[in-house]
Amino acid sequence: MVERVLPGGIAWGAKPQVETQCAHEVQCPYCGLVQFVEESERSHVTYCARCRSRLEHCAGTSTDLSLACALSALLLFIPAWTLPFLTSEALGATRTSHLASSVTILWQQDQHLLSVVVCLFLLVFPVVRFVSLTAVLFTLRIDKHPRWLAGAFRVYNSLQTWSMPDVFLLGLLIAYERLRSSIPTTIGSGALCFMAAVVLGVIARATLNKVGTWRMIAAEQRVQSDEPLMACQSCGLLLPAHPGRQSCPRCGATVRPRKPHSFSIALALLIASGLFYLPANLYPIATIPIGLKPTSYTVLGGVVDLLESHLFGLALIVFTASFTIPLLKMAGLAWCIVSALCPAPTHLIVKTRVYRVIEEVGRWSMVDPLTISCFVPVLQFNALIDGQARDAATAFTAVVILTTIAVKAFDPRLMWDAAGSHR
Ligand SMILES: [Zn+2]
Ligand SMILES: [Zn+2]
Repeated sequence: MVERVLPGGIAWGAKPQVETQCAHEVQCPYCGLVQFVEESERSHVTYCARCRSRLEHCAGTSTDLSLACALSALLLFIPAWTLPFLTSEALGATRTSHLASSVTILWQQDQHLLSVVVCLFLLVFPVVRFVSLTAVLFTLRIDKHPRWLAGAFRVYNSLQTWSMPDVFLLGLLIAYERLRSSIPTTIGSGALCFMAAVVLGVIARATLNKVGTWRMIAAEQRVQSDEPLMACQSCGLLLPAHPGRQSCPRCGATVRPRKPHSFSIALALLIASGLFYLPANLYPIATIPIGLKPTSYTVLGGVVDLLESHLFGLALIVFTASFTIPLLKMAGLAWCIVSALCPAPTHLIVKTRVYRVIEEVGRWSMVDPLTISCFVPVLQFNALIDGQARDAATAFTAVVILTTIAVKAFDPRLMWDAAGSHR
């Protein structure tokens, strides 16, 4: 990594001049500044001195509480998988779904991408995450340090974006309200267990001190070097920034000064998602029976249906998640890419904040495909009362996945590098 110095004495990618005895070094993952964080501040939330991104969050964290919630959520997944999820009634018949029902039905409807996505995002990844977190925290609790610990915690963190039980829960509520306005529908005990597991999972995440857990797995050694430093993007460990790739001695992840081929990958995926965006919004995303008549609707048509059913809050949520967020995600990422390609030292903090927002909220765009996966299994009565995912569901899912990978592939530190070289 080439060290660049801005007017004003800030060394880009190098240590600030001020060092205190009770401080440890961290590198901001968003702007690349290596800085000292006071130990006394570790019980609070710490922000980057340059881009204002959150570096460490230790307030209100508890390893024991996080472990208890993760274990409870894991156990609740057993009844959530096996007990009835939704039950609908029509024409004297009933249809009952389970958590995994949509995977097979969507596959039979030739919605292969959506079927695989639901299987991974809803069934596999959440369980893997809760198993990993429970195993890591329990092992640390009994003061053991086996070699697999860092890898397991790395898996937990890396699946955070792709594990979507919380997004599915919102989809379940939307599907339930939609179904209830057409046919009698009840929420089963499996869905109640699922809701409890999601709430516990959110508490486990909120009370987890990630930085502290990495330090419990293996404490950092202070780097005795005047060379520029780089941080492992997985665990935050600082290493001398040698050219090329290194392997992180703590978690085993590949560490590079910057993400490789960041521009080209992000730009290619952004263009691809833009191509999918039009069919995703122009063609029907699903068919549901309205007034005993099969009715196909587009993304925006679904919002209109919710408005006509006087479900104004849900209509606003679906409009925001399905229409606004993908659009903002593509526009925001395009702005960041242009900023990194064409050095622009203005609005860097705003651009970094935009990047953080689209990185955090982008996964909620999956709410519409996951809503479809909720109601399709309980709308299999006859040709009239029939629920189907349509072609736009695949296109829409592709948009969400491609934009999410594009955001992950882009390295926001390149914007700060470009601005530094421009000055
Ligand atoms: Zn920063
Ligand atoms: Zn690491």
